[in-house]
Amino acid sequence: MSKDFFSIVLGTVQDGGYPHIGSSNPEQKEYFQESKIKEKITSLGIVDKIENKSFLIDATPHLPYQLNQLSEHSSNPLSGILVTHVHWGHIGGLGWLSREGLNHGRFKIFSSYENISIIRKYCDIFEFKTNISFEKVKEGNIFNLTENITATAVKVPHRAKGDTFGYVLSGNRKIGYFPDCDNITSWKDDFLNILQEVDVFYLDGTFWNKAELPNRKIESVPHPSIEDVIEDLKDLNQGLKSKLKFTHLNQTNPLLNKSSIEFKKLRENHFNLAEDGEVVPL
Ligand SMILES: [Zn+2]
Ligand SMILES: [Zn+2]
Repeated sequence: MSKDFFSIVLGTVQDGGYPHIGSSNPEQKEYFQESKIKEKITSLGIVDKIENKSFLIDATPHLPYQLNQLSEHSSNPLSGILVTHVHWGHIGGLGWLSREGLNHGRFKIFSSYENISIIRKYCDIFEFKTNISFEKVKEGNIFNLTENITATAVKVPHRAKGDTFGYVLSGNRKIGYFPDCDNITSWKDDFLNILQEVDVFYLDGTFWNKAELPNRKIESVPHPSIEDVIEDLKDLNQGLKSKLKFTHLNQTNPLLNKSSIEFKKLRENHFNLAEDGEVVPL
């Protein structure tokens, strides 16, 4: 198995972070008091050691930590960012690359035409180097990140402005990365086809179930609930189930606690969680 091309999980929680902004939960308050980021916002790093290139999927507000983590695997500071969509947790970290931060240039930002026009407005507010290139990607496009690694953009339903993509990364092996979507039912055929073809499939696991947000209408924050996904996919074979790793966990998700009965249920049903720092060969 190649050690030259791989992905690395750089964060596993929903856009609000963990501790989550505004939380009054005593355990989370303790992390704030210690200025400790317990779990970083969902992101995936991609490394090609042969070409010495590295990429991020999404630019989260925890980008400085994620870039540092990536630099332990690749001496190249950052060749490009694939943006899934333009919600805060997925583009809010771009500012770190501006003149006041890393002052980074000569890198590419990949996303849809509509998303790029929104991202350009963000870049216009702050001062960025002018040698950033914007690569417009259409649904279904297969594009090269390096000679050895390609990405395919897959459009999924999600309430964000612009488009929401998941990406299928392909080297010697394949990885699916779908951190945000409203559901899996309205793209179930595509979902199942991708699950068949990939070795690992990272999926939106924001909520364990719909009871987690008693003070907010769950319809206003649509995500597939993990409990429903387990039920929906119960007839799949164990091999397919074990490819699925949930990420983008909300602060309310009981799976954040590995001693929970929910975590036990997840594992008994052969599904998994994404782990920060986990490396998957491509
Ligand atoms: Zn998100
Ligand atoms: Zn989102």
